[in-house]
Amino acid sequence: MVLYRIMIEDSSAGPSALSVPDETALADLARLKKERGALVLAHTYQLPEVQAAADLVGDSLELSRAAARTDARVIVFCGVRFMAETAKILAPDRTVLLPVESAGCPMADSITAEDLRAFKSRHPGRPVVTYVNSTAEVKAESDWCCTSANALKVIEAVDAPEILCVPDRNLARWCQRNTKKKLIWWDGFCMVHVRITPEDARAGKAKYPDALLLAHPECEPEVLDLADHVLSTSQMLAFAARSPARRFLIATEAEVVWRLRKDHPDREFYTVGAAQHCLNMKKTRFADVVRALEGGKPVVDLDPGLMDRARLPIERMLALA
Ligand code: SF4
Repeated sequence: MVLYRIMIEDSSAGPSALSVPDETALADLARLKKERGALVLAHTYQLPEVQAAADLVGDSLELSRAAARTDARVIVFCGVRFMAETAKILAPDRTVLLPVESAGCPMADSITAEDLRAFKSRHPGRPVVTYVNSTAEVKAESDWCCTSANALKVIEAVDAPEILCVPDRNLARWCQRNTKKKLIWWDGFCMVHVRITPEDARAGKAKYPDALLLAHPECEPEVLDLADHVLSTSQMLAFAARSPARRFLIATEAEVVWRLRKDHPDREFYTVGAAQHCLNMKKTRFADVVRALEGGKPVVDLDPGLMDRARLPIERMLALA
């Protein structure tokens, strides 16, 4: 933990400040995965040592798809609770493990199923589009799910002029700028992305005037106003891979910046302001993945009826993408 604390206090430090498992540890893990018939999925915001343990690293949508199509008996989901729940909903006959049970998402927890029912009753007749960063109970009360990569596409596909959007107000506000439909949103937000300020963005642009500013739609609208492109995590990685630009300012969780630096050492990537870290995403360590596989726990357990209801809005989204 000490090394990680150094990293988060020093915004210029990258994952090199952390140890990555050696070959023996990785070989032991591979053996364990084979014995258990397990697939390890890791979100892009996970620590490098956890990404090194994963069979697939990606964003919510990529990982949900992998969970839906795997024939592995066990899925170890290295991320936060709502992601592991989504994997369980899409693969109900598999055992899904969340290595650190306390890894949650404050944005997902900003709305309960009861809150959403009350929100719907205040705005009757409007369908609900729910960001995948939400609990299984909230998904079960929703009509559609979306990710930051496909939110606008989902909103355009919904056959209604007015739509309720939960839980992220900034993703909804970004979509509102790009659709003629009327969106009514919940006041949730990601505390990691809202810490990136327009002052940070202006200072970055002043320091690196030739840099392209790529911002995640969970950032505040005033930051998005200054962005050259508003992109999800996976879209940022794809954009940087094909762009001829040499310098980038990246407004999202800092692990994405370290990943871009690693993937493109010939180019420059900077955080916008101080590096912002999702501490829930950093709770999982390599040792937790090993422990989860050895002990077969903690298991994500959801009510079958709830999963059936939560699956419908996710499958609608997946059918579109
Ligand atoms: S980065 Fe934000 S939205 Fe993502 S898990 Fe962390 S708190 Fe939740």
